[in-house]
Amino acid sequence: MANNILTMDKLVNHCKQTGFVFRGSDIYDGLANTWDYGPIGVELKNNIKRAWWKRFVQESDNSFGVDAAILMNSRVWDASGHTTSFSDPKIDCRECKMRERADNIIEEYANKHNISVVVDKMSNSEMEAFIAEHKINCPKCGKHNWTNIRQFNLMFETSRGVTDDNQNKIYLRPETAQGEFVNFLNVQRTTRAKVPFGIAQIGKAFRNEITPGNFIFRTIEFEQMEHQWFCKGEDGSKFYDQYKKQAYDFLIDLGFNKDSLRFKDHDKLAHYAAAACDIQYLFPMGWSELNGIHNRTDYDLSRHQEFSGKTMQYLDPVTNEKYIPNVIEYSIGCDRLLLATLCNAYDEQKLENGETRVVMHFAPVVAPYKVAVLPLQKDLNAKAREIYKKLQKHFMCTIDEAGSIGKRYRRQDQIGTPMCVTIDFDTISDNTVTIRDRDTMEQIRLPIDELISYVQNKLVF
Ligand code: ATP
Repeated sequence: MANNILTMDKLVNHCKQTGFVFRGSDIYDGLANTWDYGPIGVELKNNIKRAWWKRFVQESDNSFGVDAAILMNSRVWDASGHTTSFSDPKIDCRECKMRERADNIIEEYANKHNISVVVDKMSNSEMEAFIAEHKINCPKCGKHNWTNIRQFNLMFETSRGVTDDNQNKIYLRPETAQGEFVNFLNVQRTTRAKVPFGIAQIGKAFRNEITPGNFIFRTIEFEQMEHQWFCKGEDGSKFYDQYKKQAYDFLIDLGFNKDSLRFKDHDKLAHYAAAACDIQYLFPMGWSELNGIHNRTDYDLSRHQEFSGKTMQYLDPVTNEKYIPNVIEYSIGCDRLLLATLCNAYDEQKLENGETRVVMHFAPVVAPYKVAVLPLQKDLNAKAREIYKKLQKHFMCTIDEAGSIGKRYRRQDQIGTPMCVTIDFDTISDNTVTIRDRDTMEQIRLPIDELISYVQNKLVF
């Protein structure tokens, strides 16, 4: 079931109080659509990236990683089409100067009034007509006095060197995918990979998003985890289906609830695409894109061949056939997945003593800390530190020596630590500890020697 106790405000507050996520440039009143990860958030994020890499690179028989430069030759963005068409339809309120995405205000209005529209298929003039016909007002000042719609390019520009002219113009990459495309033959040659094979990358991307972000759902700087699978054209739809399944299974294995995930085919396909869909998650603000899967045909490599003048053809060593492979792209925002992970994990439970505990039910593999070590009394702190040191060699752990044991459990529950190890006087005499499970709150006794393998078994992913 969807998590119906959670609002975005509640989550933002929880993240701020516990150290998952803080407002970017907080002491300067923030910078719209930027956020900073705190001590717990950075662990969660690193763990999500590791789990993704394990699944899509380490456990793939034929996928390889790259870490391409964020700044690329501007011709890359001409070839990809970003310089000309990576834009959103913007509309300004003449009264209060609020800038909005025209497609967003139409969608919101249509959802509210149960009107069925496919906004992706509307031209700018159709959108203007819809806004006028339905007298859609500015969400900020409530007036209806809009400019015409203009396309607004989402790429951040900067310039290289000392002169700020067009020739030196470069862009912060708006997606990581082009780093995989331009390195297609470098990777193929150095790994001697045979088509079909994949190239994966995790890295920062930047988009000049001006609309409210819904916390870390939409930010101007974010990380993408992208995987491009290069295959023969006739195998495209087979691999497209395979990646749909793999992308979905990855989420289920991370503990996502089936009821809060769904596939959504794109209403309007890009002219080069053979198929495209998103996996949507039921966020507190409603169903929204979590990741995309696209059959991009041979468009990307063909465009780079055309713009660079360098061949992008693959030579099949068995048949001697030369061709430009098709690409199946699977792309997921790491920050967006982290937001969905937080939403999916958040829970409030009434306890027998009448208290409410907030507990984050993370899959252990992504939990920020795997174990918290809790000595029951001061005299046991030295023994607890000894065990903590041992565990630290293997896992990210924390130690908490202050406060009642109940309070300490609550502190770990709210950051999702799956196991708490309590040290008591029996630990000194018989070298055993108590392990308390975050979700069931059940406790078992275990010899210290078995602790590491016990925790390791819980982390298999
Ligand atoms: P949206 O429709 O939400 O703007 P998109 O279709 O433009 O997303 P893609 O270009 O396909 O997104 O990017 C792939 C993934 O990157 C998305 O599925 C999403 O998880 C993530 N992503 C895209 N834009 C942002 C952003 N501004 N902030 C955070 N994550 C993003």
